[in-house]
Amino acid sequence: MSNLPSKLMDPKLFAKLVLAWYDTHGRKELPWQQGINPYRVWLSEIMLQQTQVATVIPYFETFTQKFPDVCSLAKADIDEVLHLWTGLGYYARARNLHKCAQTVAEQYKGEFPGTVAELEELPGIGRSTAGAIASIAFGQPAAILDGNVKRVLARLHAVEGWPGNSKVQQALWQIAEHYTPNKRNPEYTQVMMDLGATVCKRSKPLCEACPLQDSCQAHGQGNPQDYPGKKPKKEKPVRACQMLILQNPAGEVLLQQRPNQGIWGGLWCLPELASDANIAEHCISQRLSESEPATEHWNSYRHTFSHYHLDITPVLVQVNPKDKVAEAGEQWVNPAAPGELGLAAPVKKLLEQIAAMHKQLL
Ligand code: SF4
Repeated sequence: MSNLPSKLMDPKLFAKLVLAWYDTHGRKELPWQQGINPYRVWLSEIMLQQTQVATVIPYFETFTQKFPDVCSLAKADIDEVLHLWTGLGYYARARNLHKCAQTVAEQYKGEFPGTVAELEELPGIGRSTAGAIASIAFGQPAAILDGNVKRVLARLHAVEGWPGNSKVQQALWQIAEHYTPNKRNPEYTQVMMDLGATVCKRSKPLCEACPLQDSCQAHGQGNPQDYPGKKPKKEKPVRACQMLILQNPAGEVLLQQRPNQGIWGGLWCLPELASDANIAEHCISQRLSESEPATEHWNSYRHTFSHYHLDITPVLVQVNPKDKVAEAGEQWVNPAAPGELGLAAPVKKLLEQIAAMHKQLL
């Protein structure tokens, strides 16, 4: 079965329509559209994966101030990178960002390669991101297929099925390649992203403002919201844990660095225990306390990852670690000023709550 639509538009007409729309309505003031170079394009593309423009802007500005080029980012400490990334989520992106910067600095003397094939070899760069960098930064006729473009093309040609399915994905790539022009590639790539983000919106597309309206099959059928097809539903499993806020008599809290692989990889977190684990036994065995410590269970809440829910019960534990010094990968921090550490979002929130409690007690 082929998902390729039988009637594709003439690519020249397609480019003409969308580029005319871009000239009047396209976004041209975004921070990464100023002083365009491969580093800024790459950084913005990685940050924009699964993240809204408005969220990305302050992070992009901080990163480019701190690391104005790929070599300065390559030299940075991973902890500093993760710290600056705190709140953007999907931390594997930050670790790959750092690895990619190091690869470009070492293997390419600090200059990004300009072809899709070479870009795709770099850590954290997939086919669509490679296409975006090659077209925006190097003016190449390279196709992109990010979430916004998938939505526009799936609706334009009423492509059925979930884009995560490889056949659907393949069909969308073929359409994307078909329409990619040989001229004005930076603007073309930008307009495809803009159309998806500002006109062909997920829930309420503004078809009246769309340059593709006359040719759009989903619009003609009156059901744009049915495209692209949804991911087949699968219940996410639920895990539960106790997150220990181990507080010493100085008011400091113990943080532990997670292994690089897995959830919150490389970030600093509060120690976690299984939901039925005995906190007193844990604290005594870890030399955090000589006798049963005072505990205070806070309300549980749910943190959802892409593949499971985690029900977290924060427990404030007053410990007295007489002879226990922080081991490698651990540190006692002042919750009001934890320093330049990459923190998992729930941990950052809990530290802020503790700091607020301390303030009230003053
Ligand atoms: S006409 Fe509507 S549904 Fe079709 S591409 Fe444009 S905004 Fe999307």
